[in-house]
Amino acid sequence: MKATVYEGNKTFSVIDKEIKAPGNEEVRIKVAYSGVCGTDVHIYHGMMDKRVNIPVTIGHEMSGTIDALGDDVSGFEIGEKVVVRPLDDRGVKPSDKGFNHICEDLKFIGIDSPGSMQQYWNVPAFTLHKLKAETDLKLAALIEPLSVAVHDVRLSELQSSETAVVLGGGPIGLLVAMVAKETGANVIVSEVNENRIAKAKELGLNAVNPMKIDLVEYVKEQTEGRRADVVFEVAGVQPALDVMTEVAGIRGRILMVAIHGQKKEIDLFKFFWKELKLIGARVYEKEDYEKAIDLITKNELPFEEMITDVQPLSNIQKVFENIDNNPDGMKVLMDCQA
Ligand SMILES: [Zn+2]
Repeated sequence: MKATVYEGNKTFSVIDKEIKAPGNEEVRIKVAYSGVCGTDVHIYHGMMDKRVNIPVTIGHEMSGTIDALGDDVSGFEIGEKVVVRPLDDRGVKPSDKGFNHICEDLKFIGIDSPGSMQQYWNVPAFTLHKLKAETDLKLAALIEPLSVAVHDVRLSELQSSETAVVLGGGPIGLLVAMVAKETGANVIVSEVNENRIAKAKELGLNAVNPMKIDLVEYVKEQTEGRRADVVFEVAGVQPALDVMTEVAGIRGRILMVAIHGQKKEIDLFKFFWKELKLIGARVYEKEDYEKAIDLITKNELPFEEMITDVQPLSNIQKVFENIDNNPDGMKVLMDCQA
């Protein structure tokens, strides 16, 4: 079988590898599609070389079918469509208070252990979520990032009568906006890249460029001065941190979705003045996966438009180089059987 390997130094190789039998309590998945995540790009840039075990196969946004069952696996059948929730929480302790998805000893499959950018992938059976027979496997590769969005919106407690501002219109930002809009809320996406704004509009979203308009004034106009009830910070840059406390109204909730690798400056006075709340959100829980699976299976939102490129595994090096050179793209999928 074909497998891709991250070798360090912005280099991937594609190797021929023996197909392994699944171990105890594992299944072997025939991977259909594996999406490229921002984290994968981070790994490619060498930012996580200390964490990943080079040489390593990465990837965690996937869909596939069950190809073989290891010993002591029940409830699954060969040929069933599945996705993996790539959280290995086997190290969970009572002190994690039942929040397995962010437990202290959490291992992320596809970063801390081999991932899905290969033809066949052995994973623990407890990570699987079943799909319906009719679920489109290409769209199903979006379930993992969509689950992030579902989790963020759930933790925000966004109500249909409220206004949400999404700072950052990349793949996760637009998925957050789509899920937020699905609740019935008024949603405004703030993004500086004109091509991404065009993409957001294509998805039926209201998107504006804060370099061209005054975002705070715009949101005030839209809300009779109330400003945003919920702000999703998905951009990860200082201007977004500067505006999030301005654009949030009284008792606004700010969801920290972006991963900030360094300490940043935030206007804490605004938290006092407007009684703001800052809410951290990381990955997803089982129920978020089930909701995302439901959304993808119903396919009533324009998920198809989120996929801007599909490439065979053999092109992996080019795929990552292109992502660096093209900041307009959305989701790129690797077709793992092509
Ligand atoms: Zn991801």
